[in-house]
Amino acid sequence: MIDDIFPTGRAWIELNRDALRHNVRVLSALLPPGCDLMPVVKANAYGHGMTLVAKELWAQGLHAFCVATAMEGVELREAGIAGEILVLGYTHPGYFPLLQRYRLTQTVPEPAYAEALSQAGFPIRVQLKLDTGMHRLGMDVRETDRIAALFDLPNLEIMGAFTHLCADTSTSPHDKAITAAQAAAFRSTLDALAAKGCAVPKAHLLASYGLLNYPELGGDYARTGIALYGLLSEKGDACPVELCPVLSLKARIAQIHVLAAGDKAGYDHAFCAQQETCLATLTIGYADGLPRSLSEGVGEVLIHGHKAPIAGRICMDQTLVDVTNIPQAAPGDEAILIGTSGSLTITAGDMAEKTSTLTNEILSRLGPRLNRIWV
Ligand SMILES: *Cc1c(COP(=O)(O)O)cnc(C)c1O
Repeated sequence: MIDDIFPTGRAWIELNRDALRHNVRVLSALLPPGCDLMPVVKANAYGHGMTLVAKELWAQGLHAFCVATAMEGVELREAGIAGEILVLGYTHPGYFPLLQRYRLTQTVPEPAYAEALSQAGFPIRVQLKLDTGMHRLGMDVRETDRIAALFDLPNLEIMGAFTHLCADTSTSPHDKAITAAQAAAFRSTLDALAAKGCAVPKAHLLASYGLLNYPELGGDYARTGIALYGLLSEKGDACPVELCPVLSLKARIAQIHVLAAGDKAGYDHAFCAQQETCLATLTIGYADGLPRSLSEGVGEVLIHGHKAPIAGRICMDQTLVDVTNIPQAAPGDEAILIGTSGSLTITAGDMAEKTSTLTNEILSRLGPRLNRIWV
């Protein structure tokens, strides 16, 4: 990439290697016996940069990964990632040859899909997805006979079975009851399959919150996404360990305008200066993943250790911020959208809270124009 010449010139993501190592360490300490981390690097590793993150995790000794799509799996293989790569989502039959060529493990959501895979005519690795209550992808756990029949299909190499918990973000009585019922359905289905001679090599049900809140449920893998990146989906959720955010989001000041009281700025002239005001134009916009709903003072950035509120409407590639109280701000200076400056920090969780969404959505929408570098 031509941007390698100066990756921090416009808008970029800094990835903190020590933070990722720390998260791997504290999450590994929570693992039940016999369970390994299986990092989830879908959606460009939640915006962090899929191949960068996967290579680093590989170097840290983690050798099984989850992606959402077959093409993400292909990209990992082309980047040199060996080991198991589990495609969590639906893959159209048109991609079946890729599954074989790149040795990807495909999730089987229903028996008919397994038959289609088998009929492709070449060996394909699969994991069976069991629906224990989420009703998103997965086979009805009451149909153990139909599931057991899949073990007789030619060409399917059944590597494991898994399910997904849908209420594991807390240990409230409500969530606990749902989680216990899902775990029980999962175990009893695996037992029923084993009794028919259809034992699966690997079984897993924990994602990040499952590992944090219900490690006793066990399994061969914990499919951790958000927690590995040092965050929770929602800021206020309880967490038994201290996680360190891996990602910072930064941009630069392109220009500073001095407005007189009454002057207006930006699209629709939505910003009106109440007094003499200095506005800095930042080199980042909503096309980079900065939510436009942070416009007009909802969001702020950090410059030289001070807060600068967003002024007027966020544009596609640029954003105005009020730097009246930061006289040293000058073109070329860094602005921190997510991260720490001096004694102040803005987290992805803060941004998510202000825009009524999850950290996962904020992160996974960080765009391809952002350069990503390790620090
Ligand atoms: C995305 C996903 C995960 C990871 O979830 P986190 O909450 O980010 O840890 C695990 N399992 C499945 C099936 C997923 O789709």
